[in-house]
Amino acid sequence: MSVYFFTTTSPEETMTFSKKLAAYLQPGDVITLEGDLGAGKTTFVKGLAKGLNITRNVNSPTFTIIKEYQGKMPLYHMDVYRMEESDEDLGFEEYFSGSGITVVEWPQFIKDFLPEALLKITIKHTGENARKIQLEPIGSHFENLCKEIIQ
Ligand code: ADP
Ligand code: MG
Repeated sequence: MSVYFFTTTSPEETMTFSKKLAAYLQPGDVITLEGDLGAGKTTFVKGLAKGLNITRNVNSPTFTIIKEYQGKMPLYHMDVYRMEESDEDLGFEEYFSGSGITVVEWPQFIKDFLPEALLKITIKHTGENARKIQLEPIGSHFENLCKEIIQ
């Protein structure tokens, strides 16, 4: 399995990167997003939303498990942290195989429900404004996507 890296030195740069990535996404694509608090997960999703022509402001879904935004295609932003103690199926499959893009934070808590093909993204805080974005594509669509966006 290949691993790709992209380094950014400002929140704007992170957003520009995820906005670019959005252009390559197809309906039903799933991205898992990991990183410590303040790593830049929400910043990343804001850029993704811009790339999907979503005008509503995106914020952390802390008190909601699934937030839905309408754009060029729907964006489902999930924070499944509260699923830690539960193996309840909230209908994940319908989101993952639907017509939108799903971003899952804390994916380890619903790993039995995740699709086989996905793009695993991990953001690491490497300096005050420096972030290392790690992309691990699973499946040929995401492998091709990574090759396209990281040169
Ligand atoms: P998380 O959702 O992972 O907790 P946020 O996106 O809410 O993180 O916050 C990231 C914070 O780090 C923001 O205050 C943002 O301005 C700041 N930041 C600094 N440099 C970067 C960078 N290169 N990429 C993303 N965010 C950055
Ligand atoms: Mg956040």
